[in-house]
Amino acid sequence: MTFHPKVVNLIKCPYCGNEKDFFEITDDVITTTHYVQNTDGSFTIEERSSQALGDVKLFCGECEEDLTSFHQRFSEMIF
Ligand SMILES: [Zn+2]
Repeated sequence: MTFHPKVVNLIKCPYCGNEKDFFEITDDVITTTHYVQNTDGSFTIEERSSQALGDVKLFCGECEEDLTSFHQRFSEMIF
């Protein structure tokens, strides 16, 4: 017998019921990219980091309603 853990607390769009597709919009992002120059003159990205200075908003990927009230939980569940 296979054990199926019960899935709880899925974020679900209260407007259209979508619980699969979401997108996030971040204002004022500073992106820092570190490059290494190769011997042939080309560059390889070594590391990229970004820092958000402004608001981060979460939206439903289906109906595009603002779901920012779920964002705290959303950000804790990104692995
Ligand atoms: Zn929706």
